[in-house]
Amino acid sequence: MALKRDGCGLYDETHTQFRETVRRTLTDQVAPYIRNWEKAGMPPRSFWHSCASAGMLCPQVPEQFGGPGLDFTYNAVVAEELGYLGFPPPVLVHSDIVADYLIAYGSAEQKQRWLPAMVSGDAIGAIAMTEPGTGSDLKAIRTVAAPDDEGFILNGTKTYITNGASADLIIVVAKTDIGAGARGMSLLLVSGDSEGLTHGKPLDKVGQHCGDTTELFFDNVRVPSENLLGEPGQAFGYLMAQLAQERLAIAISAQATAQRAFDEAVIFTSERSAFGQRIIDFQNSRFKLAGLKAELQVGWAHIDWAIARHVCGELTGAEASAAKFWHTELQGRCCDQALQLHGGAGYMNEYPIARLWKDSRVTRIFGGTNEVMLEVLGRTL
Ligand SMILES: Cc1cc2nc3c(=O)[nH]c(=O)nc-3n(C[C@H](O)[C@H](O)[C@H](O)COP(=O)(O)OP(=O)(O)OC[C@H]3O[C@@H](n4cnc5c(N)ncnc54)[C@H](O)[C@@H]3O)c2cc1C
Repeated sequence: MALKRDGCGLYDETHTQFRETVRRTLTDQVAPYIRNWEKAGMPPRSFWHSCASAGMLCPQVPEQFGGPGLDFTYNAVVAEELGYLGFPPPVLVHSDIVADYLIAYGSAEQKQRWLPAMVSGDAIGAIAMTEPGTGSDLKAIRTVAAPDDEGFILNGTKTYITNGASADLIIVVAKTDIGAGARGMSLLLVSGDSEGLTHGKPLDKVGQHCGDTTELFFDNVRVPSENLLGEPGQAFGYLMAQLAQERLAIAISAQATAQRAFDEAVIFTSERSAFGQRIIDFQNSRFKLAGLKAELQVGWAHIDWAIARHVCGELTGAEASAAKFWHTELQGRCCDQALQLHGGAGYMNEYPIARLWKDSRVTRIFGGTNEVMLEVLGRTL
């Protein structure tokens, strides 16, 4: 089963070839092992190297820092294919979020230190914003990086961090000036093997079992001043600027997962019968699937529009928030209705729809909850 995608002029022959390479890698080196990785709670390092050999990691990294220097349309192809497989978060955090912060705000030395290794899969990236006491309200974080002669002393706890246990590089949001509110927050590049950094045990999640999600404890971690990312006190502005790409990447993969759930339902209902006819031939099934098909058609047109705008630098934060909201809600509807059309089989882990349904629930929560997306949109009214 493969994603049928034309992209309405967004993609050319080079994208098609790239997509074929990505798809072959995912089919041969990832899909057969997902169940094992779910049991292990994370993919092995070889997963990252397989992705790297297909050119899937950080395609936007400039050539001078070891990447192919492509535009976001190639990240989009990766997000679509991973979304269709139902396994996007680890790579999306690494490529679309962490690498982009480095590209946008890193010094030449920071870029040289981390970007080539992120492209080759030798360094895995994570970003740590959320804390046990706050997620949506980022200004309320309590992690402190107290300045000293050599840099900063970092203390605090972060939670729900994607790639948290495996990360070699963690971008940590911390207060460097406690009295300055949002203008007192900075971004720090923290090495995963820093002294004083410990990881909690893997968090017991509802879904996303093959993604590594952990707590991180920073106990007097020394961060040299050259590991400050960008300017001190500017983290809040940087986060707001970067959230647009993060939210678009989530929207793209959500649309692709929704399509996969729909495709699974069409196949299942075409093969199974009840009361002497195929499930798909009941009017209820046909209407449910037809309604989803219409929504998916509209969704792809919107995704193409949003990607094109982002590549031109024109996608606004509000537009990205709208996309994240709408496509993850569609993902939820598609996965739930597709599972229902499977009957009891849909509730069995043996069927792909079960994993798609469980893994999809979180996309309405992470990357900013969908209520926060509506708040962002509401402010533009
Ligand atoms: C699997 C997973 C992976 C994650 N990965 C990462 C990661 O890599 N890095 C990272 O930093 N974080 C990560 N997160 C955290 C995620 O971004 C937060 O969980 C999310 O932003 C919500 O924050 P919270 O959990 O503190 O919920 P809260 O902010 O406490 O929200 C609770 C409820 O209140 C609602 N609410 C809050 N504020 C408002 C408001 N202003 N208006 C209306 N309703 C509101 C929310 O929508 C929600 O329904 C991850 C989370 C999960 C579950």
